[in-house]
Amino acid sequence: MKKRFSIMATLVVGLGFTSCSVDVDTSGLDDLEEQLEKTTDEMEEEMDKAEEETESSSFDLYQCPTDCENGPAYPNPGPCKTCGEEMVVI
Ligand SMILES: [Zn+2]
Repeated sequence: MKKRFSIMATLVVGLGFTSCSVDVDTSGLDDLEEQLEKTTDEMEEEMDKAEEETESSSFDLYQCPTDCENGPAYPNPGPCKTCGEEMVVI
């Protein structure tokens, strides 16, 4: 299990840079490599998505001016769901 993980980690790291320089004998591991490539693509997609979410939420955050909700902030303006006050940028 531990060994398998280190091989996978090496492949993932190798694929992250350039597949030509992977210093691992991948003959017979084509299926695994294919799977890993797909997984890596999916991971990159999710990372891009997470990055976008972080970026948009790092702009303006809105919070109820009366702080009635104990401080949760929302990415979009609008009335407070609890008291109906218009939320303000924090
Ligand atoms: Zn409120």
